[in-house]
Amino acid sequence: MLDRLDQQPPDALLALIKLHDADPRPDKIDLGVGVYRTGQGETPVFGAIKAAERKLVDEQPSKSYLGPEGDMGFVHALMPYIFDGTDPSLGGRIEGMQTPGGTGAVRLALALAKACGVTRILMGVPSWPNHAQIVKDLGLELVTFAHSTADGAADLDALKAALADAREGDAVLLHGCCHNPTGIDYTPGQWDEIATLLADSPALPVLDLAYQGLGHGMDEDAYGVRRVISAVPEALVAYSCDKNFGLYRDRVGALYAMTQDAESLNRVLSNGHALARAAWSMPPDHGAAAVRLILEDETLTAQWQDELDQMRTRIRQVRDRLGAAGKVGSVDLGPLAQQNGMFAVLPLDKDQIAELRSEHGIYMAGSGRINVAGLTMDNIDKFVSAVRAVAS
Ligand code: PLP
Repeated sequence: MLDRLDQQPPDALLALIKLHDADPRPDKIDLGVGVYRTGQGETPVFGAIKAAERKLVDEQPSKSYLGPEGDMGFVHALMPYIFDGTDPSLGGRIEGMQTPGGTGAVRLALALAKACGVTRILMGVPSWPNHAQIVKDLGLELVTFAHSTADGAADLDALKAALADAREGDAVLLHGCCHNPTGIDYTPGQWDEIATLLADSPALPVLDLAYQGLGHGMDEDAYGVRRVISAVPEALVAYSCDKNFGLYRDRVGALYAMTQDAESLNRVLSNGHALARAAWSMPPDHGAAAVRLILEDETLTAQWQDELDQMRTRIRQVRDRLGAAGKVGSVDLGPLAQQNGMFAVLPLDKDQIAELRSEHGIYMAGSGRINVAGLTMDNIDKFVSAVRAVAS
C-alpha cells in the first residue's frame, strides 16, 4: 500500500536554507526563511519569554492533560489585544480555544467552516502557500481573486467583485495585517468598506491575524479585524503568537469564533473541540503558558511590548532604506516603505532570482518573496546594487 504514494516535492524554502547553509561566501544574505532577524542576523528568544519560562519551570504545578481547548487563561489573556479592549467578548458572543500555532488555527477555522456547510473559500492571491494547501487538503474549492494591483496597492475592486459573486456556502479568507507574501495591507478606509460589504454578504469571514504588532502597532494592526467583527453577524479569527512572541517552534496560536448570539457560542466551540480532539487531541502547552504568564504580569507585558516595538522599528528602518532606493533597474523598491511586516514580493523572474543567488549570494524564494528582516543596515547597499545588476 505505502508504495503507491508518489514522491512529494521538498518544501522549497527548506531546500533554500540548505543551499544557503552550504554557501561559503561570508557576505551571503538569506531573505528566504520567514523568521524575524535582528540587525546582527539573529532570531533570539524574547527576554520576556525567557523570564516567563523560568517562572514556568519554578511554579508550574503539573503537566497533566488540559483538554482540546488548551490553556483558556492564554486564550482569554489575548482577547483584549485582538478585539475591542473594553468588551473583548462582545457581550458573550466571542470565545476561543488554543491551537497548535496559527497554522492549526487556520486549519481548524476552515474545518469548522466546512462542518457548517462551507464548500468554497474566496481568497486573494498570492497568499501564504499553506492557505491553498489547507483548502485543498480539506477538499474545499478555492476561488481566487487578485490581492494587489501592479503598482503595489491592495486591489479592493477585485475583492468587491469576488464578494459580489459570493453565495451561501462561501467563506472569505483575509489577512488581518502584514500580508504574506506581499506586505500590502488594506488601508483603514478600505477595511471600513470591506466591513460594510461583509455585513451584507453571504460569505463567512475568516480572518488570519499572524503578525499583530509587526506592522504599525498592536492596536493599529487589529483595525481590520475589529472593524469586520463589529459589522458582521459571525466570523472566525485565526491567531498566531509565533511571530509577535518569537515562539515559532513552540507552536502557539488560537482560534476565536464570533456567533450571532451568545446562546450558540458554546455549541459552535464544542464543534471546534471535537475537530481538535480528532486531529491533535490538545495543543502543546509550553509556549502558550509562557505567553499567559507574560500577559498576566504588568512588568513582563511591558518588556514584551518593548521587544516587539524594537522588532517593528527595525523592520520599518529596513523598509525605509529600501524605499529610499526607489527605482532600481526595472524594480521599484519605493512601495516597500509603505508596505507592512516582514515580507515583500519583488517583480523578478526565475533567471534573475537564480543570478542573485549564484553571482551575489542572495537567497530568496522562487516567487520573488523577500524577508526584509533578513537585511541589515550593513548589507542593504549590497542587496540594492545586486538587484540593480540583475534587473537592469
Ligand atoms: N498565517 C499566515 C499568513 C502566515 O504567514 C503564517 C506563518 O507563516 C501562519 C498563518 C501560521 O503561523 P504559525 O503556524 O507559524 O503560527
